[in-house]
Amino acid sequence: MTTKTAKLLDGKALAAKIHQGLAQRITELQSQIDRPPGLAVLMVGDNPASAAYVRNKEKACAKVGIASFGQHFPTQTTQGELEAIIATLNQDAKVDGILVQLPLPQHLDAVTLLHQIDPDKDADGLHPVNLGRLVRGEVGLRSCTPYGVMRLLQEYEIPLQGKQAVVVGRSILVGKPMALMLLEADATVTIAHSRSHNLKTIVQNADILIAAAGKPGLITAQMVKPGAVVVDVGMNRVTDVDGKSRLVGDVDLESIASVAEFLTPVPGGVGPMTVAMLLQNTFASYARRYGVNNREL
Ligand code: NAP
Repeated sequence: MTTKTAKLLDGKALAAKIHQGLAQRITELQSQIDRPPGLAVLMVGDNPASAAYVRNKEKACAKVGIASFGQHFPTQTTQGELEAIIATLNQDAKVDGILVQLPLPQHLDAVTLLHQIDPDKDADGLHPVNLGRLVRGEVGLRSCTPYGVMRLLQEYEIPLQGKQAVVVGRSILVGKPMALMLLEADATVTIAHSRSHNLKTIVQNADILIAAAGKPGLITAQMVKPGAVVVDVGMNRVTDVDGKSRLVGDVDLESIASVAEFLTPVPGGVGPMTVAMLLQNTFASYARRYGVNNREL
């Protein structure tokens, strides 16, 4: 008897396809609009992981033809200084998207800063106005990570209507908007979190399982319904006995591969889709500003 292996939901390949589509649309629009879309990424301090994420985002911008106005500030930058910079970027006609790279140094209030961003330039889709639009099912900029998950499920034509979807994690960054997007797609949604009783029973019900807890190995094969679609949002750096570090998700990929129907790899699953949706959001703001039809890529 051969062991069944889950099909991979290849976020890296889909992100590359989206980048290609964006690059083409941006080139086409250059004859009508005399500037490219612009994204400003604000980073404060010297967190090496954040610096790597920022470099990655800037590289992706360059690849598709989005101008990036990256700004890197020293750790001691004040709240007032950053608020003034955001106010300037809100008014800057060359800038369509603004994002503040998290986490920020302790003395800064990330939520207050986020609230200063013009909701129509909120490339991360985390401003309360955009989250409110999501709750109401209105058009708006969607949070990049859950939006990327939805785009991935759509690409592989995974049916969601009427399905049992379980989201593990309830953060404002991933879990909550993820649950709302699945609900918008007519799934029956359950959210589990660190206080949920009997996670195993909840997860075993899932036709669609989204793991976003930030806990390596949290989801094992015994918890997964045969034939389920498993999306691993988790990104956790672990150190092996030989001292080498590597990136893992929340899901025990190897054991689940023989139970699930579809599975996202880590890395190469949700991570690249998050960046692709950041570019897509920036392009959407740009297109909307010029009244251009923003068909999905
Ligand atoms: P977070 O703010 O720490 O939230 C984690 C959530 O998981 C919380 O709601 C927490 O519950 C829940 N949780 C923690 N332990 C649990 C357990 N044992 N059982 C059930 N629920 C549990 O993290 P986040 O920002 O949402 O990120 C989650 C993971 O996704 C992290 O690994 C992060 O690095 C990754 N991530 C990946 C991407 C990407 O692009 N791939 C983007 C963003 C985040 P409580 O609310 O009760 O504390």
